[in-house]
Amino acid sequence: MTISDLTLKKKIILFGPPGAGKGTLTGVIKKYLPEIVHISTGDIFRENISKKTPLGINAKEYIDKGALVPDAIVIALVKDRLNRDDVKNNGYILDGFPRTIDQARALSEITRPDIFLLLDPPRDLLIKRIKGRYSCQYCGKIYNKYILPPKHEGVCDKCGSEIEFKQRADDNEEALNTRLEGYDNKSRSIVEYYEKKGILKRIKTPFILELTSEEIRNLIELLVLNICIPMQVKSDKIEEVQAKINKIKNSQPEYIEFRLDYIQDISLLTPTFLNKLIELSQDKEIKVILTFRKSTEGGKTEIDEKTRLEIIKKMITALPDYIDIEMSSNDEFIRKAVSLAFQYQVKIIFSYHNFEKTPSLDDVKNLITEFDNRLVKKLSIGAITTESFPFKLIFTAQSFYDNLVPIKICQKLSETRRNIISFCMGELGVFSRVSCVRYGALFTFASLEETTAPGQISINEMKEAHKILYKS
Ligand code: AMP
Repeated sequence: MTISDLTLKKKIILFGPPGAGKGTLTGVIKKYLPEIVHISTGDIFRENISKKTPLGINAKEYIDKGALVPDAIVIALVKDRLNRDDVKNNGYILDGFPRTIDQARALSEITRPDIFLLLDPPRDLLIKRIKGRYSCQYCGKIYNKYILPPKHEGVCDKCGSEIEFKQRADDNEEALNTRLEGYDNKSRSIVEYYEKKGILKRIKTPFILELTSEEIRNLIELLVLNICIPMQVKSDKIEEVQAKINKIKNSQPEYIEFRLDYIQDISLLTPTFLNKLIELSQDKEIKVILTFRKSTEGGKTEIDEKTRLEIIKKMITALPDYIDIEMSSNDEFIRKAVSLAFQYQVKIIFSYHNFEKTPSLDDVKNLITEFDNRLVKKLSIGAITTESFPFKLIFTAQSFYDNLVPIKICQKLSETRRNIISFCMGELGVFSRVSCVRYGALFTFASLEETTAPGQISINEMKEAHKILYKS
């Protein structure tokens, strides 16, 4: 495998009101991921309008009024575009789609996006930005009469052509109000839809152009590198726990996992304490995972399954984002945990560990199919409902080649609708630990001060590795 084989296949949705900076952000992302295919439904329509194609003629009457083109037309268009080879090989940035909940649902039938980036700048700035925006007719570089004029008036900075301020037909006041109103009406359910899928990221800065280069680097990093820092919970002393959590929060991981099985005395795991853990780590940007690992799968506290289920119940009612449960748990255990998790809208990460070796690719595929069948057929848990429950498959590498098993699993499962985390443990497994996120893993683990598994590297090493390996 060469470095060029490590190209990213990223599937990104950009979402925000007209003028939020989706086009600008696309430019930034493309600098880092030049191969990624930008699909702007608005651009496709404009091109078709200027060429007077049947699609263009049909769409024009809606677009000029600031109305949405009917779902059936847009969905067919996007479906066709996503099916082409360039997208399959290099990933996509979807800009301007989905715009309705039905479009979002239809998209889920076609592809499984990795990230939904929400841009939501203040309204007054937005209006100024839209009213002033125009682009070079020759090379497409974007300008703004008020915010970002060309360096020399009337001359394009990029290609040197003579340019004039010429607005898009739908950037007038009336159409703009209709578009913003339409956005407000439809956006909430779409944002919620992706929030539930666990792939929503908000961009806080009002305008992409105001991001510093450091922030841009962080943003790109965020597109690919999601890190979970595990924390061993050894006591219920709040000051101690709080200090540890704050340290972890300062290193800005996307996920924090509390390993509750590190506690000696399980009677300390009271609802009050668990609620406190969640409360202390609460941050819009950090997702919380609660885990009480079985002793046969690397857990630190030996207890019977009945007691463990009681703890799992307490964990769910403390309302973390996820709890982690071993696939090897018995049917009754899984059934009860799933039903409670549904009730409280907590997601379950179903995990599998092999501390001895890495099974063959076929064995892992069978394991996944069997577990899926067990959930759906034997335990009658709806396939759609478990879809957002990630599978986590962790093995010990005995050779470098073993790393390729989890990587292939990440590639394969992230193409379908199943969230996946898979890599190898041990010194020989570091390659997949680092690179799994490049192949569709939801996140990878890195440590801050203490490691919870062999081969775990620090968050700084993880970030550094990504910077060196994957940055142009
Ligand atoms: P945009 O450039 O993304 O603001 O799109 C310009 C116009 O194209 C919109 O105001 C709509 O009329 C139409 N359009 C673009 N994308 C969609 C979509 N996903 N669904 C319906 N209409 C769309």
